[in-house]
Amino acid sequence: MRSAFEQLAQFGATGDGGVNRPTFSEAHLAARAWFREHIQTAGLDFRTDGAGNHGSYLPCGPEDAPALLLGSHLDSVPNGGRFDGALGVMAALEVLKTIKEHELRRRTNLEVIDFTDEEGTLVGLLGSAALAGHLSPDLLQNPRGGRSQLAAGLQRAGLSDESALNAARPKGSLAGYLELHIEQGKRLESLGKQIGIVTAIVGIWSYRLSFIGRADHAGSTTMQDRLDASLGASAFTLTARELVLHDFPSCVVNVGRMDFVPGAFNIVPEQVVLALEFRSPDEDEFTRLDLALLDRARQEATRFGLQLKIEHLGKHAPVPMDENIQGAIAHACDDLKLTHASLASGAGHDGQSLADLCPVGMIFVPSVAGASHSPREFTQWEDCVNGANVLLQTVLRLTI
Ligand SMILES: [Zn+2]
Repeated sequence: MRSAFEQLAQFGATGDGGVNRPTFSEAHLAARAWFREHIQTAGLDFRTDGAGNHGSYLPCGPEDAPALLLGSHLDSVPNGGRFDGALGVMAALEVLKTIKEHELRRRTNLEVIDFTDEEGTLVGLLGSAALAGHLSPDLLQNPRGGRSQLAAGLQRAGLSDESALNAARPKGSLAGYLELHIEQGKRLESLGKQIGIVTAIVGIWSYRLSFIGRADHAGSTTMQDRLDASLGASAFTLTARELVLHDFPSCVVNVGRMDFVPGAFNIVPEQVVLALEFRSPDEDEFTRLDLALLDRARQEATRFGLQLKIEHLGKHAPVPMDENIQGAIAHACDDLKLTHASLASGAGHDGQSLADLCPVGMIFVPSVAGASHSPREFTQWEDCVNGANVLLQTVLRLTI
């Protein structure tokens, strides 16, 4: 597994330990071609679908039994790390190889998948959304990476909108989805635990908030006379942090952008448009946080004599992981004498697309210093092996 993992890390290698493999870039296409060859060399069946999801199918169960899907993604963010996604795909393939070598018969069949565009160069969770039947023509017309980039990328990979829209799997065809991934945070490291059992993938809620005051001469208007939009926006940013720190310890909030209008040294800001995003692993808490944040925004606007415009940009609900799978992972860790902790994933993953299609579970291994989406991303090889062993033992438990 290590030699395969290291070969894979050469595709798009940036020379500083990282990889640059945005979806359907030359390096990504080369990595995919290598993966296909690697599967075939191992004597396994290669499979692909209309969304470009790549993988392998092992008929180790009854012919009409559903498949337990194992995987992750081979694409990366620009100048990302070599572990994010790649570890999960290579470990999944290793599990299939092991079960094939030992000629084990299971209750279900097994399938490995490399999901297309998990990182969102083009659409975000493109392959898993297609597989789960969540893709829509509208989404493909207006993707976050731009329509022309998507069209060109699909064409380079020999795919199309139509083929992607036809990649949905029927309900009942999957027994579950299981993914090994690096944590991308430092909770496991801080807790001194070897394995993370994911309880939920956090939901994400985003808003555009506009604090609206009045433009005035920045020299001749007294401080008392100003309706300065920046004060509401700044006060809100600070109070949002305090709110989450004190009352919502399992949540995070981010103000990722502020645009000042008109935006000049000598004009009191008339308007500040702020990009607000917050995340929670729990739906009830999420709703309470939403109400509390908007309430604080209104209070700060009123305090500085401003108007507030609230635009809701979208919400992805938190996705709880299957409890039976969490239990199987915990037993696998105990069997292997590995320490474990339960935690929510603050990052999005393909599993969230699949949760209404089949039970979903995720296994985390520690990220050194929590670094990810960076060439500094690193996981000790021993932890990668632990993760792969937990994946294997969990699969064996779930398919007994
Ligand atoms: Zn990932």
